[in-house]
Amino acid sequence: MKRLVLLGGGHAHVFVLQALAQEPLPGVETVLVTPYERQVYSGMVPGVVAGHYAVDEAVIPLLPLVRQARVRRLLTSAVGLDAQARRVRLADGNVLDYDVLSVATGAVADRGAIPGAREHALFVRPAEQFLQLMQRLRALCADRPLDIVVIGGGAAGFELALGLSHALGEGAVATGSAGGSRVALVTGGGDPLSNYPAGVVARGLRALKRQRVTVLRSPCIGIEPGAVILEQGTRVACDAPVVALGAAAAAWLQGSGLALDERGFIATGSTLQSTSHPHVFAAGDVASRADAPHAKSGVYAVRAGPALALNLRRLLTGGELLPHLPQQRTLNLLSCGDRHAIASWGRWSAEGRWVWRWKDRIDRAFIARFSVPGPAASGSPADPPW
Ligand SMILES: Cc1cc2nc3c(=O)[nH]c(=O)nc-3n(C[C@H](O)[C@H](O)[C@H](O)COP(=O)(O)OP(=O)(O)OC[C@H]3O[C@@H](n4cnc5c(N)ncnc54)[C@H](O)[C@@H]3O)c2cc1C
Repeated sequence: MKRLVLLGGGHAHVFVLQALAQEPLPGVETVLVTPYERQVYSGMVPGVVAGHYAVDEAVIPLLPLVRQARVRRLLTSAVGLDAQARRVRLADGNVLDYDVLSVATGAVADRGAIPGAREHALFVRPAEQFLQLMQRLRALCADRPLDIVVIGGGAAGFELALGLSHALGEGAVATGSAGGSRVALVTGGGDPLSNYPAGVVARGLRALKRQRVTVLRSPCIGIEPGAVILEQGTRVACDAPVVALGAAAAAWLQGSGLALDERGFIATGSTLQSTSHPHVFAAGDVASRADAPHAKSGVYAVRAGPALALNLRRLLTGGELLPHLPQQRTLNLLSCGDRHAIASWGRWSAEGRWVWRWKDRIDRAFIARFSVPGPAASGSPADPPW
């Protein structure tokens, strides 16, 4: 009996579990290692923060998927890997040997990137912990309005600042919730959403103004109790710093023997196999493709899922592995807190409440796809999200 080990219940692995439920792998024992019972769908996290969704609406429960796929689940995480010996070391002290390994463990927050952040800040990753911290923040804001500073001008920081402002900010007073807190967004330098076309940046700035989010175009160089420190030493009052900076590679990949890129992510080729160890696959944020450096976000993790499922099957049971070619362009949908969203595709963009309803339908369909029993469990595919 061969053993396939899946590390992480990430966006690509939920497709693998679903494929295994539909067509089991003969002569293969599959084990899923996951630290949490559920997979948070990050596309809906800003909506949870804004108060549009309950947490349960934004997660994929893994246990029903695992049962349906007849996969063994270990509720722990990988803390070490020896790719030569084909062995994973687990946080619970056990080791797990494999014939084929698939890694979809995502990225981690770089807790050392800003001095003081480790001690004083809330990090957006892991999403499971972030959502728990948000509940506590909400409770604190019910006692008194706070100064909240989101650090990171990318899509995640932008959406979270707007979601926080909608739920807890000055505009929320009118809705009678725990409002009145002040929300600021520290971009690191220029405008927020700087890797988007100018039209999207302009729409984003209007949304931030509408929602009374203060934009601070400066790098954050330190975090202290009660303040974030910007370049040139400017101190900004802050009770709750939320760090939404670019993600880093997990430390346990170092020393695994796997070929890693310069940032420590697993170097993979077009078939999603490690460039150094063909029995190791990686997909999503943990993977790095020299031929597709743009392919780093949830949308790419999701799109890699079916290809990963197929290639794992073929490596284990025979057949030619197929290349997975990430698209150059994807549809981007940015929520603006107030049930308003911005859509973009290349240089085209649009916004409105209709975009939010569009995003809401896509996101809910994605979660529904993995509910068991559900339409997808009986074989009908839904559109991928984002
Ligand atoms: C607030 C926010 C909003 C976002 N919105 C969007 C969006 O709208 N569109 C978009 O394209 N991208 C978005 N992103 C980016 C997106 O979240 C990531 O690109 C995506 O989650 C990557 O998916 P993944 O499956 O690779 O990793 P993850 O989603 O991080 O999943 C990894 C899984 O592995 C598990 N795991 C971690 N470490 C271990 C370990 N050592 N052992 C075992 N299991 C482990 C984790 O618990 C988790 O379940 C957003 C990010 C944030 C923070």
